Amino acid sequence: MNYEFKAQSKRLMELMIHSIYTNKEIFLRELISNASDATDKMYYESLTNPDLTFSKEDYVIELIPNKEERTLTIQDHGIGMNKEDLMENLGTIAQSGSLEFKKKLQEDQEDSSELIGQFGVGFYSAFLVADKVDVYTRRFDENQGYHWQSQGVEGFSIEEKDKEESGTTICLHLKANEEDENYDQFLDQYKLKEMVERYSNYIRYPIQMEMTKSRLVEKENQDPDAAPEYENYQEVDTLNSMVPIWKKAKKDLSEEDYINFYHEEGFGFDEPLAHIHMNVEGVVNYRGILYIPSMEPFNWRSKDFKKGLKLYSNGVLIMDKCEQLLPDAFSFVTGVIDSEDLNLNISREILQEDRELRIISKNIEKKIKEKLLDLLKNKREDYITFYKAFGTTFKTAIYESFGGEKEKYGDLLVFVSSKEKEYVTLDEYLERMEEDQDRIYYATGDSLASIDQLPQKEGMDKKNLEVLYLLDPLDEFVLKVMQDYKGKAFSSINTEKKEDLEHTEEEKGLFKEMKEILDGEVVEVKTSEDLGDHPLCLLSRGEISIEMEKVLQLQGQDLEAEKVLEINKNHPIYQKLLSLKDDKENLKKYTKLLYNQGRLIEGLTVKNPTEYTKTLFDLLADKDNKTK
Ligand code: ADP
Repeated sequence: MNYEFKAQSKRLMELMIHSIYTNKEIFLRELISNASDATDKMYYESLTNPDLTFSKEDYVIELIPNKEERTLTIQDHGIGMNKEDLMENLGTIAQSGSLEFKKKLQEDQEDSSELIGQFGVGFYSAFLVADKVDVYTRRFDENQGYHWQSQGVEGFSIEEKDKEESGTTICLHLKANEEDENYDQFLDQYKLKEMVERYSNYIRYPIQMEMTKSRLVEKENQDPDAAPEYENYQEVDTLNSMVPIWKKAKKDLSEEDYINFYHEEGFGFDEPLAHIHMNVEGVVNYRGILYIPSMEPFNWRSKDFKKGLKLYSNGVLIMDKCEQLLPDAFSFVTGVIDSEDLNLNISREILQEDRELRIISKNIEKKIKEKLLDLLKNKREDYITFYKAFGTTFKTAIYESFGGEKEKYGDLLVFVSSKEKEYVTLDEYLERMEEDQDRIYYATGDSLASIDQLPQKEGMDKKNLEVLYLLDPLDEFVLKVMQDYKGKAFSSINTEKKEDLEHTEEEKGLFKEMKEILDGEVVEVKTSEDLGDHPLCLLSRGEISIEMEKVLQLQGQDLEAEKVLEINKNHPIYQKLLSLKDDKENLKKYTKLLYNQGRLIEGLTVKNPTEYTKTLFDLLADKDNKTK
């Protein structure tokens, strides 16, 4: 039977076949890693099924290059696939995270080449080097085997085909050599050996290949002057080291080993920022390697993303993503944990309540936190790269716990400071506060420049008070639920200061009238002496700030900040307003103008632009008339 690939798979396949991928070698890593996963699954089956016996030695992964046929075969004795598995698994590209992938592919028609590198397409990478792929496979618990074949874009066929041993054999028919691309190299035993050592060294099953070697022919009564004679012989070699990397001593591992393992496991396509190699002996014994990535995984922001660590019990894979091992705030961490103390027979559901697992997860959390603090202290630039990608998870954890988690994650937050325009921590802020300062000041806005231009910012600068810039809309929500950090309250410079102002009866009358003119738009009009030479500012009172109002309105919630209009007592406009006490018509125009200017400064829109423009020009024209 012939089948077509789904539309987007086709497009992806085309991109692949036209070999935009620069590093073709990775196909072998992908196929070996699939073979290893399939063997892991078989191993797991054998532990829960008494009819199956599993002897690790039987579960080799074989590489068979054939120069005459120009084929390279990768063979495993893993779980195998039945017809449905074949349709499902080899009929669509990039199963995991495929939705996000397809979306990106559609958005980014122009430059898809980089995209593939980011996503990794597993099995389909075979088409980087092959123009025809045969898959022979039989599931361990079924009698019927199948032959899947594809020549790329057009589709694939599936036929019944008997297969004696269960497992999967993948035969790649290599592409013809091109001017700048030599596919024959993938038939060369030394090249293959090098590729396995480089990309698949820590696969826990032996990867074997029959190698042709040569040796000196030993003869009796050898003439010492005769040239030595060599002969070829065949020998099966295991190409990989097999010892899981996490069982090795740190001193025997290089930075490159850790990075290779990260890629081998498909944890990410970036260079991880840091790794944590753990070897814990205690109430629960376990080892593991954790990674802090430097780039968002492609599906990080999609529903498809699942946090979790790969969990082994004494070398047996229990699950690919064990969620319980990671708190939500550290969802970005990837890696493996292997513990001999986990009960293998516990089902995957019961794992949730497992005491050992809880102990491990607590310790992991501590270790990750330590590592992050270490990066924050000693590799600030790396930490900022990381924070830009993943900082939201800490903020979300604090926000969603209504501040309950602030002790845990508060010291991981960073904000740009008005002092050096660099990221600083809250602890750094506290350390250098002015002597009589009792608050942590922050300002919200779209950019550093827009905050710097705020009238109230000038007052802060004059008093030499450090201000944290909150550019992410989530920031203010987080600081609001935190309320304070180590006893120092957060205070927004966009919010009204509560001070008792002495207003004369005349002023009181004026402000009352202005408030009435603004008809519910502001809760108060008052004076300020903190605005330098700016005429006015618009502040908020109460729980909802003006920045929050913007976010909430975007989410379709009709909530507005309570606004306070402050007029600079030292600005000539103030005297002008006082003089308009009995000129109702003009007081109305000035008041509306001032209020709308306040809205513009705060990045809000003017509610009635036509009326606003008319008022503005009426006043300007009036002024002209008078000066004539
Ligand atoms: P991924 O491995 O990321 O899921 P792949 O495209 O590499 O994506 O493989 C798709 C699926 O095909 C695998 O998840 C697995 O179920 C199945 N598969 C691939 N290779 C094998 C194999 N050698 N044995 C059994 N199943 C396999």
